[in-house]
Amino acid sequence: MSVTPADLAASIAAVRERIAAAAERAGRSPIDVQLIAVTKTHPPQLIQQTVDAGVADIGENRVQELLDKRPLVEGARWHLVGRLQRNKVRAVVGQQVLVHSADRRSLIDALSARAEREGVVQRILVQVNVGDDPAKGGCRLDEVDELVAYARGRPNLAVEGLMTIPPMPPDGVDAVTAARPLFAELRRRRDDLRTRFPEVVHLSMGMTADLEAAIAEGATMVRLGTALFGARGDRPWRKDDG
Ligand SMILES: *Cc1c(COP(=O)(O)O)cnc(C)c1O
Repeated sequence: MSVTPADLAASIAAVRERIAAAAERAGRSPIDVQLIAVTKTHPPQLIQQTVDAGVADIGENRVQELLDKRPLVEGARWHLVGRLQRNKVRAVVGQQVLVHSADRRSLIDALSARAEREGVVQRILVQVNVGDDPAKGGCRLDEVDELVAYARGRPNLAVEGLMTIPPMPPDGVDAVTAARPLFAELRRRRDDLRTRFPEVVHLSMGMTADLEAAIAEGATMVRLGTALFGARGDRPWRKDDG
């Protein structure tokens, strides 16, 4: 798949328009919505073009793919938006990657222990499975408060907000309509936590299909792949792909 720089510039502009329009409808400033380009399966050259075109926040869903691409791209800020296994924690901590997927005590323990050893503060978001979708990561809504408090107790972790991926909408229901009440739920959790813990700021929610609902409900980070790059290949990018 090849995307020309002109195509890429046009899709970035279109995405910025969508964000601005949704923010305006919600009475928000588009500056408060950070665009994360999710680049899984796409080659490092395309990521570099994206960064050079002004979108420096780059999200990957697999640790290995992120680590393979990272040295080949300059000037990006990296986000791990996919599931994190405990045995991959050591590869991520201390790499200035914002981890969006902290969702259980054992993972928080591993992140904290590694960050302490490295002498760094690891930034995390707590992932919440707002739709109780068995196919998605994330803690249950009724576990969030406890998990945030648990992570906050660790001096080497900084809990900066919450993240979610809503389930596929039921047949006949569009993604925006289906996701909006779930995003609203996450926002209420965040608002409530924030009164006690002012650093719990971010709401990472909204993908290509449900961006408008996420911005209406207060998303501060949206994670977009398809809207920027078109359809994805069906496997991760590998080093020997060149
Ligand atoms: C792939 C992915 C995205 C981007 O999805 P699109 O629908 O292509 O915009 C966002 N978040 C996560 C966690 C992803 O894995």
